[in-house]
Amino acid sequence: MPYLALAWFFIQPSVSMKICFATTECVPFAKTGGLADVSGALPKALAEQGHHVKLFLPLYQSTPVFDYGFVQAHELDGMTASVGYRNIPFNTWYGHLPDSEVEVYLIDCPLYFHRPQLYTADNDEDERFILFQHAVLHVLQRYAWAPDVIHCNDWATALLPVYLRKSYSWDQLFAQTATLLSIHNIGYQGRFAPASIQTAGLSYDAFYPSGPYELDGGFSFLKAGLIFADVLSTVSPTYAQEIQGPDLGADLDGVLRMRNHDLFGVLNGIDLDVWNPATDAYLPHHYAVNDLAGKALNKQALLKEVSLPYDPEVPLIGFISRLTAQKGIALLQPILQPILEQHGVQFIFLGSGEDQYEDFFRWATQAYPHRVASYIGYNERLAHLIEAGSDMFLMPSRYEPCGLNQMYSLAYGTVPIVRSTGGLADTVRDVYADGENGNGFSFNDYEGYALHNAIERALTVFQDQDAWHTLMQRGMTEDFSWTRSAEAYTSLYEHARRMRVGV
Ligand code: ADP
Repeated sequence: MPYLALAWFFIQPSVSMKICFATTECVPFAKTGGLADVSGALPKALAEQGHHVKLFLPLYQSTPVFDYGFVQAHELDGMTASVGYRNIPFNTWYGHLPDSEVEVYLIDCPLYFHRPQLYTADNDEDERFILFQHAVLHVLQRYAWAPDVIHCNDWATALLPVYLRKSYSWDQLFAQTATLLSIHNIGYQGRFAPASIQTAGLSYDAFYPSGPYELDGGFSFLKAGLIFADVLSTVSPTYAQEIQGPDLGADLDGVLRMRNHDLFGVLNGIDLDVWNPATDAYLPHHYAVNDLAGKALNKQALLKEVSLPYDPEVPLIGFISRLTAQKGIALLQPILQPILEQHGVQFIFLGSGEDQYEDFFRWATQAYPHRVASYIGYNERLAHLIEAGSDMFLMPSRYEPCGLNQMYSLAYGTVPIVRSTGGLADTVRDVYADGENGNGFSFNDYEGYALHNAIERALTVFQDQDAWHTLMQRGMTEDFSWTRSAEAYTSLYEHARRMRVGV
């Protein structure tokens, strides 16, 4: 399995590289999901390791350029990029990721990016990111800056590897530039009508059934990128395996099986400046692995805030999520009542999303007002307090490319109960299966009884507070830093360069 080989890559000496990081969202400038967190943290960690990183991002209507000291890069004024048969003008703004040396280039094209949402269902959605990708390469050309690697992220930057091989193959500047394409969620594939191939400036001759551009009769940016990129990655080793099967491969499993030897899984890290119980700005009480007193005080504060009674012997189970089918709430629906009837336990739910799940949490709160609390909506502060104040954390996801909350939970001494899928399988080890190293509870079958059983096992171990503290401490001492992930990406960049130019 190729990702096991990463251990070997780690011991290779790494040299400073020139990295172009192309992304369509990045904290703190533009965010819809986990890609933004990766884009805000990974390039910083790479820069700290001595690499020179230029990050490219569209300048959206909502991007607060003046808050972060961006200036217009006048030497790049008046540039254009071809979208179909038109030349579209764009400007570029220049700045940095906060507190870092990562250079950020914002591609400013109001025609395409001044819209209420980052991604749209508009007819020209393909054009928006075709312009962006050409603009990235044009700016690199203007600076005569040859990256060792272009790191592409998800469908909206997936044509860059195709462009390097096809439309820009004449340019010696990129002769040694390798590409890595990372999949953050295989569900988003940039599927467009076949005519989009010409809009992208690519040859229609290569459009035929099962060809590099064709997916289900249309043109898929992601499929094309998966074929042409030198190396592929996704955000956990287990998800790298799962997306090679028909269940979670979203029609691209065949392509991924074909490229099996070039596909790697690298776990995301967590931002320890934000998610650290010893310094967390949202917590009323700080604590650490060798001084857990503050955790109990946070539990009291949390329960008081949501009007539930405090009893140190009654475990509190937390849950924070987007409320979608992916998150496995369907497993909880049939078993919540039996669990509450049979055990002394409390629940706190935070989330928003589909009506059926919001209604379920509202119902549970009304039916068990002293045992269940819920907050329907998005609340960053409460999310931190739930991570700190809960004893256990629930993630029964149907699939989970990486997942962040289980890592926050481990760091906060809040023992996770998870379905063993994707990044959850890679971070949570069931203590019944591995008494020496277990850090939580996990189950395999996507069934209510399996979740029920895992919760009951957690409640049993909670009765033995010494064993419980050992579990907590194991989680709290694990390394989820971005430094570790950045080392793995550096190895992949080196691998991509070897694939490209044999160095
Ligand atoms: P996904 O990216 O699928 O939503 P992750 O576990 O990778 O799942 O990341 C979700 C992030 O969003 C976590 O930081 C989680 O705490 C946060 N989050 C989700 N829903 C809410 C909410 N309602 N309020 C506050 N934070 C939330």
